[in-house]
Amino acid sequence: MPEIPFPSQEELQKKIQEFMKANFGENVAVSAFTQQATTEDPPEERHESIDPFQFNATPKQIKAHLDRFVIQQDEAKKTLSIAVCDHYNHVNRVHRLEKENPEAARQIEYTKGNVLLLGPTGVGKTYLVKHVADLIGVPFVKADATKFSETGYVGGDVEDLVRDLVQKADGNVELAQYGIIYIDEIDKIATSSNLIGRDVSGRGVQTTLLKLMEETEVPLRNPMDLQSQLQSALEFQRRGKAKKEVINTRHILFICSGAFDRLRDQVERRLRQASIGFGDAPVPVDSADLLRAVTTRDFIDYGLEPEFIGRLPIRVVCEELSAEDLFAILKTSEGSVIRQYSRAFEAFGIDAHFHDKALREIAVLAAKEKTGARGLVTVCEGLFRDFKFELPGSGVRELDVNLELVKNPEGTLKNVLERAHAVAEFNQLEKVRQFASVFSQKHGVQFEIEEAAVAKIAQRAREAGTNVTEFCNNLFKDYPYGLKLLRDRDANLKFTVPVSALDDPDKFLSERVVEFYRQAKGAEQAAR
Ligand code: ADP
Repeated sequence: MPEIPFPSQEELQKKIQEFMKANFGENVAVSAFTQQATTEDPPEERHESIDPFQFNATPKQIKAHLDRFVIQQDEAKKTLSIAVCDHYNHVNRVHRLEKENPEAARQIEYTKGNVLLLGPTGVGKTYLVKHVADLIGVPFVKADATKFSETGYVGGDVEDLVRDLVQKADGNVELAQYGIIYIDEIDKIATSSNLIGRDVSGRGVQTTLLKLMEETEVPLRNPMDLQSQLQSALEFQRRGKAKKEVINTRHILFICSGAFDRLRDQVERRLRQASIGFGDAPVPVDSADLLRAVTTRDFIDYGLEPEFIGRLPIRVVCEELSAEDLFAILKTSEGSVIRQYSRAFEAFGIDAHFHDKALREIAVLAAKEKTGARGLVTVCEGLFRDFKFELPGSGVRELDVNLELVKNPEGTLKNVLERAHAVAEFNQLEKVRQFASVFSQKHGVQFEIEEAAVAKIAQRAREAGTNVTEFCNNLFKDYPYGLKLLRDRDANLKFTVPVSALDDPDKFLSERVVEFYRQAKGAEQAAR
């Protein structure tokens, strides 16, 4: 059979466009095929010289790093640090051995320490995982489990997470295979096992996730994505050989999290029932303590498949953050939102000072939001929005963020602006006075402007939107010559400009000159 030549990229694109138009009409567009991955060496070859597997940190070092950013959550920081050390030490070992003896590397027994973080929203779960990933230098992706149940093709979507890791690793497939996938709201894919006909979608997602968590090979190109497949074909044509097209998930670390709201009550009920007949075994009242008492059975009763929860052997509770914790976040976390605000003001030349009392009040307000540290952002956004809008360009150079500002932002902003306005006005008046003084020195006359006239000049310059000194230069541009005439006649001349002169300063000057000469003449005649 004669070989059909593979079309060029442009031909292919044109053909696809025609095909799409014929079948789906004008509403479907085909975006241009990008070539990033095909123009250069394939990603896994590009990074060959870099060895990202030099992990040799201790759990204490990892925790110390996390302490710089994450306030509280000591248990979670410790547990994650240990889990990450174990995982990446194992990864290192396997990676080394794979080069010497691939079969032996495959046979090392290892239960992956995937982690389940329990706890409410905004207490630092994502933040912890992100910083761990950054520290180790592996790619990290986050998704909400709810996203998967909503989509039509469950399997494909979940696998996109793995492909996203490759993207995050700049196309380095090998590094992506050691990345971290973080899935939030895992409690939302629990099935309601007491219902007849179990919730299929939640279960479906759990099964697909389970496959990823164990070991599977995910195609580098999404089979459902036409463009991606075409790109793959183009790549094949260009390079003339097949390259590794899959991502193995064996060493990807999975961290799942969820609030598991119903779980507390469920555990409390179980503990209460268990305590009946065994005296008064205390049932924890603190919600974090209740979560700490959770067993695998509780998760299964909650609606997680036994195999699924079994793949998350390390569990740790993240605590709610108190107002005091929120204050500590503002004050000491290297990622504090206050630093962002400081930088934002600084960009406009405004030096913002945050007083502890103000930070405490912000923390108290944020705690009321009940969204953990996210409340801090909400409160600060509301508090500083008008300041961020009004202050740039207002002449304000410093902002004191004190208790008064937090309690009465509107009034404080008004005061700050009024003060800035007054200072600006004073400076304008000073410039007019300075003009008179410079004029006097330069032209050897005592040239003065009445205070009322000073104010009027400043006002007119402002209204005209011009620089006040230039405004004065222009206003009195003919004065040097006129005043010289007068000074030649009277060396001690003192010339004062009143408000009434401002409408027509030249007329005022010429009248003064005429009058001066008349007086001088009169004096001469009288003397004769
Ligand atoms: P979640 O627990 O819902 O994953 P996040 O980690 O996304 O919450 O927290 C949102 C933001 O709040 C973080 O980006 C971080 O700035 C801040 N934050 C949350 N918890 C903490 C904490 N314990 N210490 C410092 N900052 C925190």
